[in-house]
This record gives sequence, C-alpha cells and structure tokens, in this order.
Amino acid sequence: MEKVVIIGTGPAGLTAALYTARADLAPLVIEGIQPGGQLTTTTEVENYPGFEEGIDGTALVTIMRKQAERFGTRYQSGDVTGCDFSGRPNKLTLSSGEEILAETVIIATGASALYLGLESEAKLMGRGVSACATCDGAFFRDVPLAVIGGGDTAMEEALFLARLASKVTIVHRRDELRASKIMAQRAREHEKIDFVWDSGVEEVLGVDAGEVTGLKLKNLKTGEFSELAVSGMFVGIGHKPNTEPFKGHIDMDERGFIVADDTKTNAVGVYAAGDVQDHVYRQAVTAAGTGCMAALEAERYLESLGQ
Ligand code: NDP
Repeated sequence: MEKVVIIGTGPAGLTAALYTARADLAPLVIEGIQPGGQLTTTTEVENYPGFEEGIDGTALVTIMRKQAERFGTRYQSGDVTGCDFSGRPNKLTLSSGEEILAETVIIATGASALYLGLESEAKLMGRGVSACATCDGAFFRDVPLAVIGGGDTAMEEALFLARLASKVTIVHRRDELRASKIMAQRAREHEKIDFVWDSGVEEVLGVDAGEVTGLKLKNLKTGEFSELAVSGMFVGIGHKPNTEPFKGHIDMDERGFIVADDTKTNAVGVYAAGDVQDHVYRQAVTAAGTGCMAALEAERYLESLGQ
C-alpha cells in the first residue's frame, strides 16, 4: 500500500512530490501521456520566479522532476483510467489493469487547452499557434495577432496581447460575445483590438514557411472567404480539466473542475492541486503553490492516522 500517490507531472504534481518526499513519505508519481504537462507545450518561461533569464518549459519541469527524485520520489508511467474513493484505502486503476492502493491521492492532472482541431493548426503549434498569451505573448512584440473565441479567456488573451502586439483581431464565430460585460467592454474599447464577427478559421496559413503568416477565414453567414495577415494565432476557446477518470467519484463543478477547499476534495485522503481545480489563475507558479498545499494536507492527514 502506498502512502502518497500523485497523479500528474506538471508543476503541481512535482511540487507535491518534492514536499512529500522530503517528509519521508516516498511518494509514487504516475506519469501520464503528457509528462511535464502544459509547460512542455510552451518554449521560454519568463514568469517563473528564480530564473532571471527565463527558462525553457521542458527544462523547468525536468529540474523539478530531478529535485523531487533526489528525496526519494518514485515515478511510474501509466494512464489512470478509474478510481474508487469510497473508503480506505483509496484505489486507482491504470489502463494496464494494474490497481494501486493508497492512503492519500493527490490529483494534479491539469487541464488541456481546447484547440480548433485543424491540421494546419497542429503543424504550426509553437510556431505562432498558442493557447497561452501569458506564456508566449512576449515573443510577438509589435506584430499583428489573432485571438479566437468570444468568452472571457479570449478577451483576457486579447487584452494581454494588445499590450505587446501592434494589433489584435478577435475572430468569433457569432456576432455576440459570451464574455462577461466588463471584459467584453474592455476589449471593445481597446484601440488596438478589432473584431471579425460570424467567422471561423478554415486554415492557419504559413505551414510551408514554418511559421504563422495569416489565417484563412470563412464568414459563417455569407460563406465568403477572406485572409487575415497575422504572425500568431492564440486560441482562447476554453480549457478542459483532465478529470475524466474521477467523474462520479469526487465533487466537480459543471465544467468538470474538481471542487477543492484548500486542495481538500470531498473524498477522504484525496487532494487536488493545479489547473485541475483552478480555472482562474492557471499559472505554473500557482500550480506549484497548490501542489505544496496538497502535500502538507496529505502529510497532516497521514499523521492523524499515525503514519
Ligand atoms: P467559454 O466557454 O466561456 O467561451 C468559449 C468561447 O469560445 C465562446 O465564445 C465559444 O463560442 C468559443 N468557441 C468554443 N468552441 C469553439 C470552436 N470550436 N471554434 C470557435 N469558437 C469556439 O470559455 P472561457 O475559457 O472563455 O471561459 C470559461 C469560464 O472561465 C467562464 O466562466 C469565464 O467567465 C471564466 N473565465 C474568467 C476569467 C476572468 O474572470 N478573468 C478569465 C477566463 C475565464 P460561442 O460563444 O459561440 O459558444
């Protein structure tokens, strides 16, 4: 039986591993299909404290991984497909069929940005296609950019990017924004932000050039095509928490984010950290912070069991 099992290897999971390892709890970390999480989809991370010159996202999680390993963290590849949190011990099932029993479980499976699903979009990922303005926006100074979506995420991305870019065009599939009034108003009033309404992206242009050069748009009402010259496309159509295996076993909100009170879930001995329980901040540093909190909560709980 494991004392601590941590699911996920982004900053939340690895910080939880570091803390529980230093507390001599020999945590077992389950590494899923995207080791390192969303940080590995970005290039340079300039806003993680402690790295004056910035650091490559993959390099940052590699350091975190080694740091946690140094104190006795164990890693196992696997895809968690099921769980039973109805009583002690907690149970996890992997796709291989293996069952893991654990006194405490820290869920740090993160969230995945939603993308449009175009082939050209996938080919230009990290080459002008991004879903994180705070991660990648600084690489696009004084150039025109596009943001896709009409919700708060899209408005927030556009407002952030407008500080850096020469111009930001928000492309939305309807003629009405879903975003909150205040965010919509800020975007509408911003001198550097324009809108293209009722339009979808047919293709991201620039595959041959190896970087985004523009977007082929389709007006969904008239069927007309047009081109928009931009150096980057930021997709802001929402995030999906990676909580599928836990549905029905733990409290979640209507969008599938785990409901956690200072990382404590409604299941005894089960904690949630990072983007899986946070749709507001979604930063590497806040994920690491909640990873630390979850570890301290797990430690306290184990102590109460006399372990
Ligand atoms: P939302 O679901 O609110 O909005 C998604 C937007 O993307 C919608 O405008 C939707 O269009 C559009 N969209 C969805 N799928 C596609 C697609 N395939 N192609 C083109 N467009 C698409 O998600 P958000 O991430 O914006 O917000 C989620 C929640 O998080 C909200 O409750 C929001 O208020 C909150 N949030 C709050 C923030 C803040 O307060 N600072 C910041 C970010 C998020 P359509 O409108 O036609 O459905």
